[in-house]
Amino acid sequence: MPASDVATLLAEMKGAVQENVPLAPMMHLRIGGPAEWFVEPFAEQDVALSVRACNEHGLQLHILGGGSNVLVSDQGVRGVVIHLGKLNRIVREGNRITVGAGVTLPSLLRTTREAGLAGLEKLTGIPAVVGGAVAMNAGTRDGETFEHLVSLTVVQSDGRIAILSREDCSPKYRNGGLGDAIVVQATFELEPDEPDAIYARFAASLAARNKSQPVTQRSVGCVWQNPKGDAAGRLVEESGCKTLRANGVAVSDKHANYFVNDDTGTAEDFVDLMRQVRSRVKQEFGVELQPEVKFWGFSGSCIS
Ligand SMILES: Cc1cc2nc3c(=O)[nH]c(=O)nc-3n(C[C@H](O)[C@H](O)[C@H](O)COP(=O)(O)OP(=O)(O)OC[C@H]3O[C@@H](n4cnc5c(N)ncnc54)[C@H](O)[C@@H]3O)c2cc1C
Repeated sequence: MPASDVATLLAEMKGAVQENVPLAPMMHLRIGGPAEWFVEPFAEQDVALSVRACNEHGLQLHILGGGSNVLVSDQGVRGVVIHLGKLNRIVREGNRITVGAGVTLPSLLRTTREAGLAGLEKLTGIPAVVGGAVAMNAGTRDGETFEHLVSLTVVQSDGRIAILSREDCSPKYRNGGLGDAIVVQATFELEPDEPDAIYARFAASLAARNKSQPVTQRSVGCVWQNPKGDAAGRLVEESGCKTLRANGVAVSDKHANYFVNDDTGTAEDFVDLMRQVRSRVKQEFGVELQPEVKFWGFSGSCIS
């Protein structure tokens, strides 16, 4: 981009704008190259202005939440990555709690527990921020993000701000169904309960998760979507993939739907392992696994 355009872009983008920012430290997996542009808006109006600036300059736009479900290519990402970490307000009104998209789920869960508001503890252990949890309709077998949602503020792809009620949304399994809209704020309606009772449920979920998932290792959570009526982890395990690895990335021996990075892995290793596993599962069960992880900065379908 010519220097004059860069100057215009910087003036139009509202928030802290940086060029060539390494993304790996922000990703749960600790893998990936830099973002060409990295923007941290201070308020939802700034998100809207940044979206309009991207549209105007024909720049690709990615929204980064907690980085727990994204694989960034080793070459990084062209265009603009918007990070909503500065949208971090939490406001309580009765049983309702309104949260900025950049608030982490663990911090929201701590707040609601201390306030004696129950419901969100079913999301215990998901290392997302609120925006990412809504966008993906993150959940566990106990329930999902949209269950307690009453309304959302989003920035639409044309840069306009809109308020959506729960009835306006059609969430699906691990997909909030919001298309290109950017979640900037969410309001949840919760139920009053004793903080100790909420804490007990929270601790039980955490203990169960620690037993069955490699929570202390670098991963993106589940790599593959569960095929209808089956579990991707079972297919991976029973096709003999649990010992597979590609350099620094290995199939977890605790949960076969997780790949873990030993801190030396690259995005290319991750994709290589995906190809190996996918091909073995296809051979063994005739099932073509579909990725749950989102790919940024890759061209075409990198796993086929
Ligand atoms: C150890 C581990 C355990 C996990 N366990 C679970 C689990 O139990 N259940 C589950 O559902 N998931 C789980 N995940 C996956 C992941 O946490 C979820 O998919 C989560 O919703 C991703 O949120 P994030 O904030 O990290 O988003 P990111 O990974 O940063 O982004 C994910 C997608 O959401 C989009 N996005 C992010 N923020 C916004 C926004 N504000 N507006 C619009 N789009 C946005 C991104 O562009 C991207 O497409 C796990 C992951 C890990 C690493």
